[in-house]
Amino acid sequence: MRKYELKNFIPTHEFELAPLADPTPAYTYFNTVLQGQNNLEGVIRAVLAECSCQIEGGTKLVGLEQFEDRVEVKLLRRRRLSDEDETVTTETARYDWVIGAGGAHCTVRKQSTFIFDGETRVIGRLVVGDIHVNGLKQKYWHLWEDASDVPITLRPTEVPGLFHLGIGESF
Ligand SMILES: Cc1cc2nc3c(=O)[nH]c(=O)nc-3n(C[C@H](O)[C@H](O)[C@H](O)COP(=O)(O)OP(=O)(O)OC[C@H]3O[C@@H](n4cnc5c(N)ncnc54)[C@H](O)[C@@H]3O)c2cc1C
Repeated sequence: MRKYELKNFIPTHEFELAPLADPTPAYTYFNTVLQGQNNLEGVIRAVLAECSCQIEGGTKLVGLEQFEDRVEVKLLRRRRLSDEDETVTTETARYDWVIGAGGAHCTVRKQSTFIFDGETRVIGRLVVGDIHVNGLKQKYWHLWEDASDVPITLRPTEVPGLFHLGIGESF
């Protein structure tokens, strides 16, 4: 990581965020790899494809019913034909089991009536985005920070010149 004072480009400090270490049987993948979110989905899709699993885009789970021997789900499929035209169809499918991986607002969790304890607290503002920057070294995760203001970071991605911008109190 390369650190600068706010509002200038003169580096004040360089440090390893996570020093490299040899893997052990307990920690096979010990070292951190910075992976741009724009590439992550492709990586996940490729791993799933190796397990003969394809993600069906434009498909929303809208209903779920459990039986002794199966689960029936209702799917809403949205197919875009052109900028103005799309088709929406519903479909019922049967499965032996269903895994709910729909994030914090997961339909599977809600329809299985599992509660989600906790509360949402706003403890700071966050600005994120991918931006192109000329002339900035791709080798470093750049950080502008001083005690008086919120930090700004630019994390390199796999795409030359493309950085992930982060401004906020949680960096
Ligand atoms: C701005 C931001 C920055 C973050 N930074 C970090 C970080 O640096 N490190 C970290 O560890 N975590 C970070 N997180 C948190 C992390 O992204 C989440 O904890 C993680 O993505 C949760 O994974 P998930 O698979 O449970 O859900 P999600 O990633 O939310 O995936 C749920 C998927 O289900 C799909 N889906 C939802 N409902 C349905 C439905 N009804 N039918 C079909 N599909 C559905 C959604 O489209 C989505 O693709 C960050 C989160 C945010 C918002």
